[in-house]
Amino acid sequence: MATRELSRRPKKKTIRTIPQQRTPMREQPAEVRARNFDEVSLGYSEEEAFLEAERCLVCPDQPCVAGCPVNVNIPGFIQMICARDVRGAHTVLTSTNLLPAVCGRVCPQESQCEGVCTVGESLDPVAIGRLERWVGDAAIAQGWTSVPFIEPRPFRIGIIGSGPAGMACAADVAKAGCEVVVYEALHEPGGVLRYGIPDFRLPNDVVDAEIHSLEALGVQFECNTLVGRLFTLEQMLDEMGIDAVFVGTGAGYPAMLGIPGDSLNGVLSANELLTRCNLMRARAFPEYDTPLPLGRRVTVVGAGNTAMDAMRVCLRLGAESVACVYRRSRIECPARAEELHHAEQEGVTFHWLANPVAVLDDGAGGVSALRCVRMALGEPDTSGRRRPVPVPGSEHDIETDLVVFAIGTNANPIIGQTSPLRLTARGYIDVDADLHTSMAGVFAGGDIVTGAATVIEAMGAGRRAARSMKRYLGLRDASAPVSAASGTGEGRLFGLPASERNFVRVRR
Ligand code: FAD
Ligand code: SF4
Repeated sequence: MATRELSRRPKKKTIRTIPQQRTPMREQPAEVRARNFDEVSLGYSEEEAFLEAERCLVCPDQPCVAGCPVNVNIPGFIQMICARDVRGAHTVLTSTNLLPAVCGRVCPQESQCEGVCTVGESLDPVAIGRLERWVGDAAIAQGWTSVPFIEPRPFRIGIIGSGPAGMACAADVAKAGCEVVVYEALHEPGGVLRYGIPDFRLPNDVVDAEIHSLEALGVQFECNTLVGRLFTLEQMLDEMGIDAVFVGTGAGYPAMLGIPGDSLNGVLSANELLTRCNLMRARAFPEYDTPLPLGRRVTVVGAGNTAMDAMRVCLRLGAESVACVYRRSRIECPARAEELHHAEQEGVTFHWLANPVAVLDDGAGGVSALRCVRMALGEPDTSGRRRPVPVPGSEHDIETDLVVFAIGTNANPIIGQTSPLRLTARGYIDVDADLHTSMAGVFAGGDIVTGAATVIEAMGAGRRAARSMKRYLGLRDASAPVSAASGTGEGRLFGLPASERNFVRVRR
């Protein structure tokens, strides 16, 4: 081979030649941001993104891709950034992930792609989430949408719920040419992205941009429409001319502990608190007519993402002190590492290994304190985590004006109660491997099937359901690559029969 050609080849990167430090992301100082709702993390600049992209080794075995629940082509999009082709990076990302600006902000990367990144074996892993966010934000800023050529089909699809599962399913069936209507119970679309995750983590502008790109595909949104009360699933199929339905109603029904005092004034579920603040704009009271009196001291029970959001919202709403009570230790804390770190920086007090046993009355129907017992960690339970056991005689009171329960949620029940759908013992919708429910033409996915999970898993389910729905309707799935090894023989080109050539892409 000519020496000149050899010298033109890019040098192979190794762990020694890449930038050794993970590029930090700028953020608002803790003492400033704890009192405003502006976004905490400020994102990468162009130079920072290019620098961080150089840290990817483009590993042949791609462990990060396997670590992503929807198998985003991570080295593929990062290589595009290295080549300064940001639009190309966006195309690679959105071929599997509809919402890069959202997922780059909220996915638990440390336990997914970044948790298995090869660079992480010796240095800090490649900041995959931050790069994904940077590409997603560039697309929003530039107004890039990938609207393909859509050939209209004579099918009408109803999607119930506008969270990430419903959005992902809607996008795929709209691209297949179906008329798609998304029915949403609340007055704004987006599901938890809108009513649950606060602006300082996921600004509403980002959610709006993603909704607009769905509208650009022809998807219609009908808000203020509680399916099961205004009309039923059966009416959708029998009377409203809908050919197939996707149920993505989530798991937003709050769980309470069932301890004495948990129905006092001054006890809320985290979902109620967050919905009032984010969707009903309580933070702009009295401009918006949603009062949300917190008192001076707030205690939140639980330590997942929802608990972190609730605590940080209370700080921003003006609470003087905010405490977290969790029955396990910091190591078992289920929230994303970044959220826990940010909550600690902002001044939340953590009571690890403490379990509430009663909410105490202030004598006027309100709350005066949360009574807790100390816990010790015993043998591992079925989840593999050490089981917390109460320490006898360790009862103590944490003085507080408001108690917020963030201890998990259950299936939103209305569709289950108003249709013949088969449910699991815990009230979630029962589906087969294709996400088909017990009713013909009705598919389901996301939290309403799995229980509370993650945004990316809900989106993955929405896309899988869309594929099954297309099969059910007899639509060709032009996005499914066909292996060239699928056969040879007379009339076949690249292993494909002549009749299929117009409909499939060949994976080379
Ligand atoms: P949802 O997002 O819950 O959407 C369901 C939608 O259906 C809702 O809009 C609801 O109003 C609507 N609906 C319900 N019933 C009806 C009906 N009968 N008719 C019409 N509409 C109906 N995941 C992460 O990956 N990272 C995070 O950082 C993170 N933080 C979170 C913070 C909070 C506060 C919460 C609550 C969850 C968080 N999650 C996070 C989890 C993630 O948001 C969910 O797993 C995901 O949103 C589930 O998507 P979904 O589409 O299944 O349901
Ligand atoms: Fe790049 Fe890390 Fe994925 Fe390897 S594992 S391809 S270094 S992001």
